[in-house]
Amino acid sequence: MNKKLIAGNWKMNASLSTNDALVKAMLDGLQGAVPAVDMALCAPAPYLAQLQTLLQGSPIAWGSQDVSAHEQGAYTGEVSAGMLKDFGCRYAIVGHSERRQYHGETDAVVAAKAQRALAAGITPIVCVGETLAEREAGETEAVVKRQLAAVIHVVAHCTSEIVVAYEPVWAIGTGKTATPEMAQAVHAVLRAQLAAATQHPERVRVLYGGSMNAANAASLLAQPDIDGGLIGGASLKAADFLQIVAAAR
Ligand code: PEP
Repeated sequence: MNKKLIAGNWKMNASLSTNDALVKAMLDGLQGAVPAVDMALCAPAPYLAQLQTLLQGSPIAWGSQDVSAHEQGAYTGEVSAGMLKDFGCRYAIVGHSERRQYHGETDAVVAAKAQRALAAGITPIVCVGETLAEREAGETEAVVKRQLAAVIHVVAHCTSEIVVAYEPVWAIGTGKTATPEMAQAVHAVLRAQLAAATQHPERVRVLYGGSMNAANAASLLAQPDIDGGLIGGASLKAADFLQIVAAAR
């Protein structure tokens, strides 16, 4: 049985001084204890060197919020998986709904990004999730299965090495959370899809993300197929993030 994973996604909220204070507050809060779960913080790329300095040797891993689908070359502005590896990243979020929505990332691009991460020894956190319109049209299952299938198709025998995050788009940053039952139902669908795709589906952690906070984390994380959380807003407050970590036993 995998340890749960609680990963923070700071999005485009960071500065040298606030990162320093936030990370130090988190490490202080852990009081030198090794948490029962795996922890990670995903920061904007310019701050990964800072996280490497602050978190090296601590129980908190770090990662990026995106990675290029290309290995190297004339791709101005892109950050490759090899570069992320140079800065010690263990994880890279791929296919976050904000990237799909605002940057036109298709399922195929997300799959290519997941593959690049894996090839560099970085675990992709593959985000899938339906919009409100898709949920209301009864398309939730079809949408998340299509998004995950695209990644499975490309990463093939490495499927057991990915992390999946179910993030209903209507719940991200809105304060609206899927009920534990709603989330569990989708996680069970993803779990079955993974079971059909890899000999080691038990190795794949399926996280829930979407307004998870200190108050609702325990009931979500108690669901049998929820293996952790991808936390946006609440990862910007040390006490809230640590309460979620404490709820994830
Ligand atoms: C996210 O950005 O992945 C996320 C889940 O955000 P929030 O927790 O703020 O809804």
